[in-house]
Formats: sequence, structure tokens, C-alpha cells
Amino acid sequence: MSGKLTFTMIKPDAVANGHTGKIIDHIIQKGFKIVAMKYTKLSEEKAGEFYAIHRDRPFFKDLVDFMTSGTIVAAILEKDNAVADFRDVIGATDPQKAAPGTIRNLYAKSIDANAMHGSDSDENALIEAGFFFNAFERF
Ligand code: UDP
Ligand code: MG
Repeated sequence: MSGKLTFTMIKPDAVANGHTGKIIDHIIQKGFKIVAMKYTKLSEEKAGEFYAIHRDRPFFKDLVDFMTSGTIVAAILEKDNAVADFRDVIGATDPQKAAPGTIRNLYAKSIDANAMHGSDSDENALIEAGFFFNAFERF
């Protein structure tokens, strides 16, 4: 059975461009309950750990530089089928390929500065949430 939680970050580009409020409203209107949320900034070490799966990819250094370049908003979201449904709400990694009306289609400019993160599995949702929130804060 698919889980009820996913983890997200509003990335530095979207925060810097003033899209935070619209994105939070978009998420709520799509039926997600925000169960935890915080403004924060990633250290180089934390960003490297968070994206460790991409460590050998050519874009890794640029990704870490970008994700540490400014404020992010980290959040845990709750909904039935949260992981898959939220991936649908944010759209494809490359905003050029993101479906109309998705967050990346509306607010992202490029594949590296693509406005928003969404977990790719129930397991990773809990691991990623644990980077930012203590277990007792989650519910
Ligand atoms: N990314 C990038 N260039 C690429 C692929 C990915 O800069 O060619 C960045 C982008 O910010 C993306 C993140 O690396 O959101 C993680 O990549 P992933 O394939 O996991 O995409 P996502 O799950 O975020 O859609
Ligand atoms: Mg991913």
C-alpha cells in the first residue's frame, strides 16, 4: 500500500523569486495537508548527503552549489498516495517537459533551477524528512 507522506523543498530559485506563497497555496488546493514546514538553508555537507545518489552525475557540483545558494522551505506533506500524487503536482524534472499547470511548468526556468523537490518513494520520503525534522515533530 502506498504511504500518506511525502517530503518537499521549495528550492532557492522559487523562494528568491517570491513564489513561496503561491506554491504553498497550490499544494493545499491540490489536497495536501502540511504537517511540518520550515525556512532553512542547506549546508554543502547536508546538500551533498541529501543528493548522494547523484554524486557521480555531471551536474552534482552545480546542484549542490545551487541548493546551498539561498533559503529553502522544507516541508512534510500528507495525503493518500502522497509520493506519486505530489510528483504529478510538481511535474517533470525539466520544466520544458512539465505538463501545463504543474508547479515546475508555472514557476521553474531550467532543469537545474526547477523550483521544487519531491520525494521519489515512501522510503526516501521518510529518510529525507529526517534530514530536517525530528520524528516527534511529524504528526
Ligand atoms: N538535475 C540537474 N540536471 C539534470 C538532472 C537533474 O540539474 O540533468 C537536478 C535538478 O535540480 C533535479 C535534481 O538534480 O531536481 C535531482 O534530480 P532527479 O533526477 O532526482 O530529479 P527530480 O526527482 O528532482 O525530478
Ligand atoms: Mg529525484
